[in-house]
Amino acid sequence: MKLQVIGDPVLHSKSPVIHRAMLGLLGLDILYTPHVVRRGELPAYLAWAREHGVTGFNATMPHKEDLLPLLDGVDPMARAVGAVNTVCLRDGGWVGFNTDGGGAAAALKNAGMDPAGLTITLLGAGGAARAVALALAEAGAERVFVCNRTLARAEELCAHDPLGRLSPAGFDPDILRRRAEQSQLLVNCTNLGMEGCPHQFADFSFLDALPAGAGVFDLIYHPAETELLAQARRRGLNALNGLPMLVNQAVLALEHFLNRPLDRPAMAAVAAAALNQN
Ligand code: NAP
Repeated sequence: MKLQVIGDPVLHSKSPVIHRAMLGLLGLDILYTPHVVRRGELPAYLAWAREHGVTGFNATMPHKEDLLPLLDGVDPMARAVGAVNTVCLRDGGWVGFNTDGGGAAAALKNAGMDPAGLTITLLGAGGAARAVALALAEAGAERVFVCNRTLARAEELCAHDPLGRLSPAGFDPDILRRRAEQSQLLVNCTNLGMEGCPHQFADFSFLDALPAGAGVFDLIYHPAETELLAQARRRGLNALNGLPMLVNQAVLALEHFLNRPLDRPAMAAVAAAALNQN
């Protein structure tokens, strides 16, 4: 049995560190390696992987969407998100899953920010926002306002919500303040504040509109503390970065690879420790 993470670029991926730590804890002698696969090379990779004993792989840019039509089966959540990040060989066929949203929901629950029953302001409508918004709705959020610079993308995302809990909104400061006033949790799924992103939030006044005790979850983990999280902490809000989501989506991926439930807290702890040392 061999596992991989594919993408282009992929050598910077933290997945090998995380998965090797979890496999080590389980005492499993399974190789997990990064493998560069360029756009357009997926069909050749799938054939190669099968021939070379690869039974599962994670996928990152630019393959998450392109994989869908090439697989033999796709899990309903991955189908709804329109992207897969985990692919397993099952009964001779490739089956795709998306663990991003489940990883985000688990990270929130573990941090005492269970989304069930909450009204949530979610910023962004890209790939990560889509997975997280659908997972928050599935986890029982009362309402999720999907606020995006390009309103049409937020509308398109919300149109795919089978539970009817997502509402599209714009991104100007006034709208963000009004949505935040109604919310107990704010989730940033944009690139704003990410290392290498030249842009930043124009102002953070929407944080003042959140009620006392509200949570702010930023999917970004580079830097470990974004300006958004620093501003949230300064206001006494509960701040959470993207590392626990990264770890928890990997735990769920490993459950798919091994096709059995794992001790999730133990897996997450060993993965987080390995990341800290790296
Ligand atoms: P994406 O598909 O490119 O989406 C980017 C989003 O950011 C879009 O909604 C875009 O709005 C918005 N945006 C970009 N620049 C903006 C600006 N100047 N002003 C306002 N909005 C802006 O990216 P993604 O794959 O969803 O990733 C989003 C973030 O999540 C990244 O920082 C990534 O590192 C993080 N992430 C973390 C994890 C984890 O495990 N922790 C997993 C996945 C992703 P428009 O639609 O208007 O362009």
